[in-house]
Amino acid sequence: MLSTIFTQGRNIFTRALGRRTSLSGGLTEPAIKSSKLNGSHNEGTKTYDAMNFKIIDSTLREGEQFSTAYFNTHQKIEIARMLNDMGVEYIELTSAAASKQSQKDIELIANLGLKAKILTHVRCHMDDVKKAVESGVNGVNVFCGTSQLLQQNSHGKGIEHIVEKAREVTEYCLKHGVEVRFSTEDSFRSNLADVLKIYSAVDKLGVNRVGIADTFGIATPKQVAQLVSQVRSAVNCDIEFHAHDDTGCAIANSLNAIESGVTHIDTCVLGIGERNGITPLGGFLARMYSLNREEIKRRYDLKMISKVENYIATLVNVQVPFNNYITGSSAFTHKAGVHIKAILKNPECYEILNPDDFGVERTIQFASRITGWNAIQARVEQLNLGLSPDQTKAATAKIKALADTRNVSLADVDEILKGFTMHNIPQEQLAQEQQQAQQAVDSAAAATTPISRSSSYGDSAQHLYSNSF
Ligand SMILES: [Zn+2]
Repeated sequence: MLSTIFTQGRNIFTRALGRRTSLSGGLTEPAIKSSKLNGSHNEGTKTYDAMNFKIIDSTLREGEQFSTAYFNTHQKIEIARMLNDMGVEYIELTSAAASKQSQKDIELIANLGLKAKILTHVRCHMDDVKKAVESGVNGVNVFCGTSQLLQQNSHGKGIEHIVEKAREVTEYCLKHGVEVRFSTEDSFRSNLADVLKIYSAVDKLGVNRVGIADTFGIATPKQVAQLVSQVRSAVNCDIEFHAHDDTGCAIANSLNAIESGVTHIDTCVLGIGERNGITPLGGFLARMYSLNREEIKRRYDLKMISKVENYIATLVNVQVPFNNYITGSSAFTHKAGVHIKAILKNPECYEILNPDDFGVERTIQFASRITGWNAIQARVEQLNLGLSPDQTKAATAKIKALADTRNVSLADVDEILKGFTMHNIPQEQLAQEQQQAQQAVDSAAAATTPISRSSSYGDSAQHLYSNSF
């Protein structure tokens, strides 16, 4: 299906080379070690095992805040099942306090018996927390704004009041056997002393996690490492990180957060969320896979990524972006002749992700002027045309010459190749035609009329060959 989607209307040739690889990740060393990064922000701090993380997918909470998102009950259940099957450890849902249907949906999903823990995201308010606990969730993700801006313009409460409210809701959750996380909103624009004071207080109360939120995507990787390190030093509990992508750092910040001591990462399918969203689930997994391929394959069903992304894209009425991690239409497309030559021998030459592991196909786009005869040879073999190397090279030259004058298609390529099989072209004629093709390339800029694809390839006057490959 993916192949169909990717190739529709495109001048490409799809071929799954499917070679499993033996790359191993570099960050499997246990627990904490001293950083050896020269001059980096980690100087003097600790670097944590990059594989020490759990995913909290928030497509059904943060994702609901995406501009065009609406999920009905059936769709929410379908999404929850897919995420569960994929292996994410937590699924976060919109607060029961948001609407009556939201409350019903939480109860339904919490009772599906999924392996993933079900969380709901609530304000630091007893009414919301009680509703959440009554809905049967495994955990409550409590949040509260702590920046001066939010203190003054949102809830109007001071730090002492926030700590007191946090104490109340935390004690209630723990008493009812429900996991609790306490998060500050806009953590990077909050006063550090305030943030640490709150985290220390709730840590002592026994929360499972504190949450650091880059609510507006303002943090740089360096700032993430600094803040996480400080929080890591202040608490014993787990730490969750929520990265918005306003400035394109969400994935990098998430990785940096883990390496600085964070244990839980928030994601959304396709990164959907408020404004332009948060850390994308697929992109985050691509990042982590590149560090430790076997571990990520063991923990997550990576072939589910395209399925769940296509489902979400359809529901929220967007296209999967061409440059999306793993599933974008060009994510595994190779075009340059030099690349293709190496890819055909060993895909790892130009790929760090093995498309096989994600259930997607590699695409070789050879119908262009930057193609090479190795790529064309692959097509010759696929069509079982039995052309000699010289014929393939001559055909390649013709394809390149044609591509100098207009956009060429797979049908153009096949027609040229088949023309060579229909006509047993002598070596002398090949040389002559290659010379003619070179002349045609030289004057291509002046050409205004596309070369007829219906012409006979046996007619040397119509051949455009090139000696360059
Ligand atoms: Zn958010």
